[in-house]
Amino acid sequence: MNPILVLGGGPAGLSAASELAALGAPTLLVERESYLGGNPVRWHYSLLAPDLRPAEEVIGALLERVEGDARIERRLSTTLTKAELGSHGYRVTLATADASETRDVAAVVLATGFDHFDSRRKFEYGYGRFPDVVDFKELEGMLHDNKLVRPSDGQRPHRIAWVLCVGSRDLQVGNPWCCRLGCVVSIKQAVEVRQKHPEVDAYIYYMDIRTYGLWEDLYWKSMQEYGIKFIRGRIGAVTLAEGGSRLLATGEDTILSRPTEVPFDMIVLASGMEASAGTKQVAELFGVPVGPEGFLTPRLTDLNPVDSGLPGVFLAGAATGPKAIPDAVTEGMGAALRAYQYARD
Ligand code: SF4
Repeated sequence: MNPILVLGGGPAGLSAASELAALGAPTLLVERESYLGGNPVRWHYSLLAPDLRPAEEVIGALLERVEGDARIERRLSTTLTKAELGSHGYRVTLATADASETRDVAAVVLATGFDHFDSRRKFEYGYGRFPDVVDFKELEGMLHDNKLVRPSDGQRPHRIAWVLCVGSRDLQVGNPWCCRLGCVVSIKQAVEVRQKHPEVDAYIYYMDIRTYGLWEDLYWKSMQEYGIKFIRGRIGAVTLAEGGSRLLATGEDTILSRPTEVPFDMIVLASGMEASAGTKQVAELFGVPVGPEGFLTPRLTDLNPVDSGLPGVFLAGAATGPKAIPDAVTEGMGAALRAYQYARD
């Protein structure tokens, strides 16, 4: 059997590759970056919601399975530049900075993931202009390194605000969808801050709290055990407070129906999820249908969410929409099984 190609080395791709190897299929794992692990490794995620387990432990276990398996051929810093459908499978061209080669593969799993929304597009929040306005991934890095300080002066912040739905549920930036994870990750970050630094006050500004299913438990705990304060409302603008050393969040408390103006030492933007550049590229190369949001569209989102509807092309993880790691891992397994069945028949 020709190898089954897995494109993308994040949680879904790692899961698909290890599952294919467990099924006995030769596997070719291709990642455009120089490392495996996807966004959690790239941005140094700290603890994962809702179990507060270190991301390194979770991703590390996936990496161990893949790196310890001789049946998985790993190709880093490599991109797919061409894909042609053959009689059973695809002829693909893989390119590195200085070489390219053609390979025949029996089936393909597309696990090309997501990119974080670029918060500079929400100019009013001051990201990129005020150093103490950071986004999700930057705070993750600080928590991971145990270095919670204001970028502007290296001092520990006394009061932090999280602003939810940045680049999500927002027609102005063309992103009407919900990012699914922004609420629970913000709550997790606030809990992590309060665990490590109980003297820091944490405020979360929200439109709705969407901690679906069992994740609601962390929401309750965050209020009852960690004293995190939730304010329903919108921040309209972030400016520098008088003196310039603090940030001023101006907006509206929509429960009390009154304007608010609160100084903070640091503001964290819960930036949403968008289809990654790699996802857009493979959509074009394979001709996978793309929805209005830019993510890949499975043939049947309810009964077969890992089938693209194209011969031998299967989908997994956040390439089809915002997704948590456990869901990405599960889809990686499902796509691997479907790809194996296709390649074997
Ligand atoms: S998950 Fe929460 S932060 Fe993300 S878009 Fe939905 S409501 Fe907003």
